[in-house]
Amino acid sequence: MDFSATYGFDTLQIHAGSRPDPATGARQTPIFQNTAYVFKDADHAAALFNLQEVGYIYSRLTNPTIAVLQERVATLEAGVGGVACSSGHAAQILALFPLMSPGDNIVVSTRLYGGSVTQFTHTIGRFGWKSRFVDFEDLDSIRNAIDDRTKAIFCESVCNPGGYVTDLEAIAEISDMCGIPLVVDNTSATPYLCRPIEFGATLIVHSSTKYLSGNGTSMGGVVVDSGRFDWSADDRFPSLSQPEPAYHGLKFHETFGELAYTLHGHAVGLRDLGMCQAPLNAFITLLGIETLSLRMEKHVSNACTVAEWLENDSRVKSVTYAGLASSPYAERVKQFYPKGAGALFTFAVEGGYDACIKLVDSLRIFSHVANLGDTRSLVIHSASTTHRQLTPEQQAAAGAAPDVVRVSIGIEDPDDLIADLDQALAKAVA
Ligand SMILES: *Cc1c(COP(=O)(O)O)cnc(C)c1O
Repeated sequence: MDFSATYGFDTLQIHAGSRPDPATGARQTPIFQNTAYVFKDADHAAALFNLQEVGYIYSRLTNPTIAVLQERVATLEAGVGGVACSSGHAAQILALFPLMSPGDNIVVSTRLYGGSVTQFTHTIGRFGWKSRFVDFEDLDSIRNAIDDRTKAIFCESVCNPGGYVTDLEAIAEISDMCGIPLVVDNTSATPYLCRPIEFGATLIVHSSTKYLSGNGTSMGGVVVDSGRFDWSADDRFPSLSQPEPAYHGLKFHETFGELAYTLHGHAVGLRDLGMCQAPLNAFITLLGIETLSLRMEKHVSNACTVAEWLENDSRVKSVTYAGLASSPYAERVKQFYPKGAGALFTFAVEGGYDACIKLVDSLRIFSHVANLGDTRSLVIHSASTTHRQLTPEQQAAAGAAPDVVRVSIGIEDPDDLIADLDQALAKAVA
């Protein structure tokens, strides 16, 4: 069966990439807890190693359970191929790896997951890569930050944690004009709420640790390629357009066309960086994805109910949920996220830093954890935890000021969530 775009999302989230196991008929995707694959003969082995034939060699590069996950996420994102990684952060490095050389830079939104700010501010500098952080509301400053060593534009769709919603079309127009891929972290929206490729994104990165697996059990990441970028248009992306010394001078783009970026991710990225996903995690993530649309509907409706209640409470100074009618991004939500703006937002509490700490410690149903996208409702005080390493300016830009807590609204009974917030606010704002 061809599960291309002819089927609806609810069908694809269950079927894309999978088929009954040809050896046993097993209907659910088996966990191939396996390292290496027997070659048919020496010629077969040589063809696989030369990338002349597609097949399994060693699970650092490819694994049948992980292949189903990759195809499913790529299909849901309207891409042509995917590479699964050990975590979302691994996916970000793997996504940039084919694009970057020492001395190159990326132009990055200031509104990002705290860990991504740290990764891009400090860690990628060790590879000789630089980040230029820019306010993505200011399109001129994005254009001005781009030079001939810029190899990617990077942003999130729905932002973590500040309730910011990126104008994907406007950013994609800049990336098109400049001949640079647009990389979108679509973790917080998921492909059910938004498919950035349809608005012009080139590459998608996911932390599948969050909504895709959905229950807070399994680390993972996925990179998806739209297949639309012309890597050979100029000399900007030599890893994809020029001869690859580790494969006898093979040119990835010339040889593999729209699959060049994905195959490079496996044949060079995973092979040499080694950040492959565990088959069990891929299996659990596939189970999660089967119910993605059902969960996201409930996450969104609960988030709307809770955000509206908080907005009308005098102990709460402000609520950043983009799904509120009062949000400055309400129009943009209609355009890019018609099914809802996710379930992640912050609110500011009267009483500042100390009240936030007391609130977090007083909640009973909400768990105080550094995570999001779980069936359970989660809370964190970003300024004292995930965004602690950032400067006060970076915290404010990321929507993680000291008087703000972030919630990831789960799929419990919304009345119970409101009652829990009510009693904790009573203690926090005495
Ligand atoms: C969690 C997260 C990441 C990092 O993913 P890990 O799986 O924790 O490595 C990146 N971006 C966003 C938006 C996230 O929420």
